[in-house]
Amino acid sequence: MSRYPVPQDRSEAAFAERYPLLSSAEARAEAARCLYCFDAPCVQRCPTEIDIPSFIRSIGTDNLRGAARTILDANLLGDSCARVCPVEVLCQSTCVYVHQGRPAIPIGRLQRYAMAHGMAPDMLQPASPSGRSVGLVGAGPASLACAGALALRGHAPVIYERDTWPGGLNATGIAPYKFQITDNLREVAFIESLGVEIRTGVEIGGDLGPDRLLAQHDALFLGIGLGPDRRLGVPGEDRPQVVGATHWIRRLKTDPGFRVDGVRRAVVVGGGNTAVDTARELLVLGVPSVQLVYRRGRPDMSGYDHELGPALADHRLQLIEHVNVVEVLDARRGVEVLLGDHSGTLASVPADLVVVAIGQARLDRWARAFPGVTCDDRGRIEVDPHTMATGNPRVFAGGDAVNGGKEVVHAVRDGQRAARAIDALLQEVAGA
Ligand SMILES: Cc1cc2nc3c(=O)[nH]c(=O)nc-3n(C[C@H](O)[C@H](O)[C@H](O)COP(=O)(O)OP(=O)(O)OC[C@H]3O[C@@H](n4cnc5c(N)ncnc54)[C@H](O)[C@@H]3O)c2cc1C
Ligand code: SF4
Repeated sequence: MSRYPVPQDRSEAAFAERYPLLSSAEARAEAARCLYCFDAPCVQRCPTEIDIPSFIRSIGTDNLRGAARTILDANLLGDSCARVCPVEVLCQSTCVYVHQGRPAIPIGRLQRYAMAHGMAPDMLQPASPSGRSVGLVGAGPASLACAGALALRGHAPVIYERDTWPGGLNATGIAPYKFQITDNLREVAFIESLGVEIRTGVEIGGDLGPDRLLAQHDALFLGIGLGPDRRLGVPGEDRPQVVGATHWIRRLKTDPGFRVDGVRRAVVVGGGNTAVDTARELLVLGVPSVQLVYRRGRPDMSGYDHELGPALADHRLQLIEHVNVVEVLDARRGVEVLLGDHSGTLASVPADLVVVAIGQARLDRWARAFPGVTCDDRGRIEVDPHTMATGNPRVFAGGDAVNGGKEVVHAVRDGQRAARAIDALLQEVAGA
């Protein structure tokens, strides 16, 4: 049992996995198709540069421990990345088979197979203790990867997380048909087993602010992610049927007994991956009619085609393009939208639930409280991209707070990159 209990009757627990675990015969058959390319393009397209042909070769010889080891050597969150990475636009998009018009090697599913059967708590051995401690703010993928890599180098990482559960959006944001909070907690337990301490329910700021953290630790890593859901800024937005997307998804994933039984018509506002995920989740929950309302056209949507396409194949989902929401009306009349044909025409889209998925705020004001830490005009923490060092030589940062919101694998890469630089800094200090 995890030391972070989760409610059994979470709605997400009823979601089926989109890509179930491969059987051993399936995994070996797919591994046998790999051409073990020289200078493999799939490796170059992986932000953490996992040696993909090598782990696939290990699967082919049934050396699953070896396969898992290869993955973890490059990416400590190899399990969640196997399941949440958009492989269709990353590694698998470059597989040489694609250029031949044939199906790519299912790299994500093979990675998941290797991690499920080959990962063991004792497979990575931390170096002897250095006597140095590093404080990390936030327990999302960026900090978990950074802390795990620091523990392996002998340092003592302490993660401060304000939430009940560690994992960041891996716990509370990822679509349940990809990865559930219980899967996340298994991966967190693996990171903890490397020697990482996680203190949940601790919010950094106020009394426990930059000064105290800097006094308590030799170096800091800020992996705070993004802030609350952005608001539309239109009349009627405070009505009870309106909710921010990450807030709604969090409830779906973690609230006991969360249901949408009364919802007949839902509107999701936005065109990114969170909007598309929300629409898909509403469909799985059985909502009879879902409208995805976007201010521009489908080619401009940042939501991935490979996620939107299958969702649109469900006749219950409709994409309404080129409209701006100008007011939220009552639950019967839904949202009033301004059509994008320059005619000035207003129309209403009925909805008894309105989910706003237009991005998340930045936490730049919070970050600027650390001496020397600066943010750009879009609220992202500024770092040296090679070391993830901020303007304060003892403070590093990574993940969504730095890139403005990308993928889990980018957060992991940042965290591991910062761990290398922090290790170099601590060794330099020790040698001085
Ligand atoms: C709805 C949604 C679905 C997504 N789906 C996918 C997907 O399918 N695949 C994918 O690769 N990526 C996906 N992403 C993106 C991915 O989740 C993020 O890129 C990734 O989680 C970023 O990691 P992070 O560690 O930077 O931040 P986060 O995961 O946001 O973690 C930050 C943590 O810091 C904590 N924190 C913040 N401030 C404080 C403070 N003052 N004190 C203590 N703790 C604090 C927060 O509580 C949080 O736990 C999705 C994002 C969203 C919003
Ligand atoms: S590009 Fe495809 S075939 Fe080549 S090594 Fe990568 S997965 Fe194997």
